[in-house]
Amino acid sequence: MTHKNRGILTVVSGFSGAGKGTLMRELLARYPQQYALSISATTREPRTGEREGIEYFFKTREQFEQMIAEDALVEYAQYVGNYYGTPKAYVEEQLEAGRDVILEIEMQGALKIKEKFPETLLLFVTPPCAAELKRRLVDRGTETMDKIASRLARAVEEADFMESYDYLIINDDLEECVGELHNVIRQQHRKVSLCSGLIAQIRQELSEL
Ligand code: 5GP
Repeated sequence: MTHKNRGILTVVSGFSGAGKGTLMRELLARYPQQYALSISATTREPRTGEREGIEYFFKTREQFEQMIAEDALVEYAQYVGNYYGTPKAYVEEQLEAGRDVILEIEMQGALKIKEKFPETLLLFVTPPCAAELKRRLVDRGTETMDKIASRLARAVEEADFMESYDYLIINDDLEECVGELHNVIRQQHRKVSLCSGLIAQIRQELSEL
């Protein structure tokens, strides 16, 4: 397979409660052939309804640290007391198969990925305002008020790094947001293929004129 047909990596970050999960599900439902969502490993407890190998691979701290030791993760980070990390094998397999792989990960991991793979597209999802963020977290009802407070405190820290991202996606209207996401990734494809293949090809052709 030529490099041109390889998928590209997109990182989607955003404050806890920004609606990334819903957005990703919708994007994948609309374009199932184009995108693959990486499934992370985590040491956090499953929420009601979460299934092993679907939302996450749920691991003990020992198992997770074993994955770190075996260099089985593209990146990992600690978030509000738990480990989260991206298993390598699936990402590589899907990129090679020509799918665009989406990593829905927090900021430390996002910045590590960008350092390792500079052509990665970094997207940051935010609700239109902070009050809306709190409302979504409370309404979701999956976390205690303590955990919500930790997640909001983490959002304050994350807000300092929002400028490191390539695009800000304001998650107000789901339909619009999915369309925007898809378009931005398509544009990135053009940029990457320009960088990797087309420039070299045009240079070669010009030299032969
Ligand atoms: P949650 O507990 O709400 O599912 O996820 C908490 C945070 O961890 C979210 O910001 C989510 O994007 C991030 N996260 C999920 N998987 C990974 C991962 O593999 N690596 C990193 N660095 N962050 C992740």
